[in-house]
Amino acid sequence: MFKVKKILVTGAGGFIGHHLVKTLKSKGCWVRGVDVKYPEYEASHADEFELLDLRRSENCLRATAGIEQVYNLAANMGGIGFIETHKAEIVHDNVLINLHMLEAAKKNRLDKFLFTSSACVYPAYRQNIVDAVPLKEEDAYPAEAEDGYGWEKLYAERACRHYREDYGLKTYIVRFHNIYGPLGSFDGGREKSPAAICRKIALADEVGEIEVWGDGEQTRSYCYIDDCVEGITRLMASAYHEPLNLGQDRMITINELVALVATIAGKKITKRYAPTMPQGVRGRNSDNTKLRAVLGWEPQTPLEKGLEKTYKWIERELIGAGHLRERVLCA
Ligand code: NAD
Repeated sequence: MFKVKKILVTGAGGFIGHHLVKTLKSKGCWVRGVDVKYPEYEASHADEFELLDLRRSENCLRATAGIEQVYNLAANMGGIGFIETHKAEIVHDNVLINLHMLEAAKKNRLDKFLFTSSACVYPAYRQNIVDAVPLKEEDAYPAEAEDGYGWEKLYAERACRHYREDYGLKTYIVRFHNIYGPLGSFDGGREKSPAAICRKIALADEVGEIEVWGDGEQTRSYCYIDDCVEGITRLMASAYHEPLNLGQDRMITINELVALVATIAGKKITKRYAPTMPQGVRGRNSDNTKLRAVLGWEPQTPLEKGLEKTYKWIERELIGAGHLRERVLCA
């Protein structure tokens, strides 16, 4: 599928970027990974890994030198607790990264540029009920994106279009809906809901209690990492340049997500609700009509299967860190 030899992955020290590097390597590409940090849980498979702060234009030029395609994943981001409390920092960092990366891609005459946008670009007014109508790509306008992170993503989507129309850079825009899986953050505040719930349940007693933000009736859909990587490599091989959803279209409540993970863990879990904690929009799901039409494919991994792999990986990490030693010895 890939004829291109030289690929840059920014954010290659992060969750999706690290998985993407592995996949591109397995397809025979030459890959340069760039990030401000190395991957946390295992060594990068990249041919070359450079620690560069991509908020600086000279570093973007250096990162893109000799490169044909870039998957631009680098971003300052995290779970809902983080993005609701770090808006200035997120907007500042990500606008700089994305504009400098686009300009560097133009100057170094790259062929293709993929930008990882988010379901956070969709307007709040379409997501204010639990049973939300699945979001189609055109629903992003009239715009009322997630304050901070969502607006910055929407702006970068438009910047991609301008660079494509004015300079001929082939830009690709993917809107992720909650990507989860092994090797993603599961503590420290940047983790997303599936990882946070897996961690809380892994640390809970066999008959235990965990904290759930909000009333747990908010809805989301969750896409497994292998499907995410498959989707973006397929998109890069396509001729489609408009924003495209990439997510599962199975919507579940946070309470149902807790129940699924508790079953995987074999634990009896009760929930203590924290109504004042950030919980994001009330309901969100992906409409995959366009995804199916453009890629002839959609995410395949059942949530139960993906969550089981994720839970087991987080449990092993917690054991490795000494947090679960006693339970495992007794089991
Ligand atoms: P992540 O936080 O694991 O990875 C992002 C990486 O970018 C990190 O390793 C971080 O160190 C790096 N980075 C931050 N600032 C940088 C800088 N100045 N210079 C160089 N690198 C820098 O996040 P992820 O989940 O892998 O997300 C990848 C992309 O997908 C991001 O653009 C994110 O906004 C987008 N996205 C992710 C999700 C999801 O559910 N994970 C959903 C929507 C959109």
